[in-house]
Amino acid sequence: MTNPFLTPSALPYQLPPFADIRDEHYEEALEAGFAEQSEEVRAVVEQAEAPTFENTMEPLERSGQTLSRVAHVFWSMTSTDSSPFLEELEERYAPRFAAHADSITLDPRLYARVAALHAEPDPAWTPEQRYLVERRHTEMTVAGAGLDDAARERLKELNQQIATLTTRFDKHLQADTNDLAVVIDDPAELDGLSDGERSAAMAAAADRGLEGKALITLPLFSGHPWLASLTDRDVRRRVMEASLARGTRGNEHDNRETVLELTALRAERARLLGFATHAHAITADETARTPEAVLAMLTRLAAPAAVNARAEAQALQAQIEAAGESYELAAWDWDFWTEKERTARYDVDTAALRPYFEAERVLQDGVFHAATQVYGITFQERDDLVGYHPDVRVFEVRNEDGSEVGLYLLDLYTRDSKRGGAWMNSLIQQNGLLGHPTVVMNNLNVPKPPAGTPTLLTFDETTTLFHEFGHALHGLFAQVTYPSLGGTNVFRDFVEFPSQVNEMWMLWPGIVEHYARHIETGEPLPADVIERLQASETFNQGHDTSEYLAAALLDQAWHARVAGDAVVDVAAFERDALEQVGLLSATVPTRYSTGYFQHVFSGGYSAGYYSYIWSEVMDADTVEWFKQQPSIREAGQRFRDRLLGVGGSKDPLEAFRDFRGRDAELQPLLERRGLTG
Ligand SMILES: [Zn+2]
Repeated sequence: MTNPFLTPSALPYQLPPFADIRDEHYEEALEAGFAEQSEEVRAVVEQAEAPTFENTMEPLERSGQTLSRVAHVFWSMTSTDSSPFLEELEERYAPRFAAHADSITLDPRLYARVAALHAEPDPAWTPEQRYLVERRHTEMTVAGAGLDDAARERLKELNQQIATLTTRFDKHLQADTNDLAVVIDDPAELDGLSDGERSAAMAAAADRGLEGKALITLPLFSGHPWLASLTDRDVRRRVMEASLARGTRGNEHDNRETVLELTALRAERARLLGFATHAHAITADETARTPEAVLAMLTRLAAPAAVNARAEAQALQAQIEAAGESYELAAWDWDFWTEKERTARYDVDTAALRPYFEAERVLQDGVFHAATQVYGITFQERDDLVGYHPDVRVFEVRNEDGSEVGLYLLDLYTRDSKRGGAWMNSLIQQNGLLGHPTVVMNNLNVPKPPAGTPTLLTFDETTTLFHEFGHALHGLFAQVTYPSLGGTNVFRDFVEFPSQVNEMWMLWPGIVEHYARHIETGEPLPADVIERLQASETFNQGHDTSEYLAAALLDQAWHARVAGDAVVDVAAFERDALEQVGLLSATVPTRYSTGYFQHVFSGGYSAGYYSYIWSEVMDADTVEWFKQQPSIREAGQRFRDRLLGVGGSKDPLEAFRDFRGRDAELQPLLERRGLTG
């Protein structure tokens, strides 16, 4: 039998022929794919002709077809239905993928050709062609492809040292987090926790040989989810103090020296690559473009967030006193008193909501129905097309006029072979160059009910389905020429924007009534429940926004270091950075402090933690715009044509301006979070 990855699929929309794919096909196709693309790139860089778009960019975009076919399926399968065989393959091939990508991105001959095109753009190029050259040039520059031999050697050393330090950071953090787990001698001190939480704490203690005691292990962020319910104030204090102390205790797990070295090396690397700071190097390849733009937005949000957090603190203090207590609100009291207020003001029994969110109805009458109302697309299940697992469903998506949009696959249920979380990925990436259609998929991790019983989603799972479907639409609507610019191939600080926007339809008048109906009575979700769900959006946002912004600004501050500066004191550096923006607060600590800010010191979000709120600014502004439009169908078309369909084929801020008629404004986000004073 021939290897199905070696030729394009003959199925509709080039859907991968899952029924024909066997374990033994991956390795053969991966090897063939790497070799094929290396050969194609070699032909580009070794030709004698001077660089043109046609002899450099285009063959590059056409290259790697075999690798693309097998890689899309391979990475999808290792996430959704893995096996010991695939795990072993993944471990072996992950470094190969990285090395293969580097061999192209860091090829100095290729860089010379791209740089020549970049320096003298041909006026005949389309805007997309011009943008492709610019993107490729920036990516290669940031990676170091333009360096001379000595500088490349230094870059290699720096990358290795940085990798060592990030690994050390993680090791220290893991060890200190374990050491700092709070031991509870008397189970009575767990008052306020549910039975399940209590037995989890007892089991955690037993695991460490502490029979009869309880153990509160620490999550990554400052604080702990249980701070909302633990009634013993001293236990709350111990948990919060343990959490905040991580990585800064002067023991062998101290991360302060690691962070100082790491950020100094990143600063040096940035300078080597031609950027003022690490934050400049990172944002050069993001929507934001410069750290100055990031800081301008973060600091404008910081002031109103801090004002609201202070008002929230006052209200909590009043509550404490009204309850007959006389202490002063501390960081470890915040969640406890907030939860009391939340329950009193917005109490929505989330378990009682589930009968209103039957999965099939949410999908067909909610998610799909909203997309039909807004974008005019329709969905037809294709039982003749199969996925890799019986739970995978395949839908064909068409426009109002019947023309084809693509395939949408949904894999709703959790299983042991699937990783946690929810996500969208593409199996076939739309592009005009090669005439490829679009096949996208969504994965969730909803527990599967016994056969014959309906799947009832939680409120959060329903939100997640709308969210992930927003990513799917971004992929489905892509209308680009070049594969590397399609669909969700956009910047990290932009990619969440379309998915956040799609969440708006979940409680949209006219749509929520259509799908959120009680499974037994058929009654719609009561209006007062919808109101409370909406009203709770502004609750505690002074606090939540402040702790997030503090972390985002701390990330920017560390990565604004310049090579050779004299920073030696981590605590003072952190304090100054937060004080400068008015977010230094004993009652609202930063969501992540330097000693345990894993996202930015080892997790790939360095100088990029701001990106969550950057895309939410555009999201809130877009939702506001939709609310003002007389026809959501016309509004949807505009959003689809000018923004979603553009994918990564032009500057995202330009696409936003084209869609919205102006740049994104902060006001809608401030209003959504109740930060307008
Ligand atoms: Zn998302």
